[in-house]
Amino acid sequence: MKINITCIPGDGIGPEIVNEAKKVLNKVATVYGHEMVFTDVLMGGASIDAVGVPLTEETIQIARQADAVLMGSIGGDAATSPWYQLEPNLRPEAGLLRLRKELNLFANLRPAVLYEELKDACPLRADITDLGFDMIIVRELTGGLYFGERQTVVEDGIRKAIDTLVYDENEIRRIAIKAFDIAMKRKKSLISVDKANVLDSSRLWRTVVLEVAKDYPDVTLSHMLVDNCAMQLVRNPAQFDVVLTENMFGDILSDEASMIAGSIGMLPSASLNDTKFGLYEPSHGSAPDIAGLDLANPMATILSAAMMLKYSFDLDKEGAAIEDAIKQILSDGYRTNDIYSLGCKKVGCKEIGNLIAERI
Ligand code: NAD
Repeated sequence: MKINITCIPGDGIGPEIVNEAKKVLNKVATVYGHEMVFTDVLMGGASIDAVGVPLTEETIQIARQADAVLMGSIGGDAATSPWYQLEPNLRPEAGLLRLRKELNLFANLRPAVLYEELKDACPLRADITDLGFDMIIVRELTGGLYFGERQTVVEDGIRKAIDTLVYDENEIRRIAIKAFDIAMKRKKSLISVDKANVLDSSRLWRTVVLEVAKDYPDVTLSHMLVDNCAMQLVRNPAQFDVVLTENMFGDILSDEASMIAGSIGMLPSASLNDTKFGLYEPSHGSAPDIAGLDLANPMATILSAAMMLKYSFDLDKEGAAIEDAIKQILSDGYRTNDIYSLGCKKVGCKEIGNLIAERI
């Protein structure tokens, strides 16, 4: 298969971690007989420095024409970087928000996996972590409370703020289909999270999810109220496989899930549209404090590349080969600085990339 990937190295550690992901993807291409063509484009601070804006039409067009986008991270240190003296719509993050909108990326996927070797980084009790966990949160990204009408008014001298939570059935259906498709690639178990005991939007959510479920008889569907889900994530995270939820609930629950997974340097993410197209990036930021020092952990970006192979190209075997290679180097004791513990072998960003590529 020939695959055209637009790469956005971005700022800070972005270029270092994207290089390692390319290295691993090239190895996958060699071993499994694919061709990967990478086209690098500027976004964020790097684009501001080069052309004065965080995102150009040219970058949007190149991204649109690609089969998928692989991104490092954008942004700098807000306290010291001149990028943050600019108007908000000209700052690095504005480029990413606009690109997500231009590419209609409505489905956000955030896996949270507890690696056996990194259990000590999990803040939960040993009897809970002993069971392990491996879940993926599928969050609706372009609707709900964050995109509804809002206003602040003064009525009879009292300040009042109003936010509206709106979903139509089409928005719910398309994200539900994504989640069921993902469940079919995993353990065929899906928990839909809502607040159907209170909110109309959640009752419609549940109704539409049940309608979509009829097309996926092999997937076991259950429903969970969001407050209960927040508790269950720390009480018994092993029960979750695919978690489907709306925008704000997903925002909060995915951060909770990433916290219990331990290191931020291990967490990939994907944002998909209604075709197979997606933008893949680590969950962390550009880590300007360690940029250029070969200290960055590239594994979140490399795992994002594995997600790309699975979700955009249905190359499940190749994606699994990357995940297995990462598990192998962890069990061989290799660690970047952020996940280092006594007795392990500390290596840099480039070396981790080499070790993973070697094991594909
Ligand atoms: P951050 O995630 O960049 O860093 C937080 C801490 O984690 C730092 O100590 C950093 O060194 C460490 N860290 C992060 N990723 C690491 C990795 N792969 N390996 C080793 N250590 C790692 O968060 P921040 O400092 O709040 O943000 C820095 C910049 O990144 C800001 O400009 C922010 O806006 C931006 N940001 C971008 C994205 C994105 O591009 N999607 C996401 C979050 C933050």
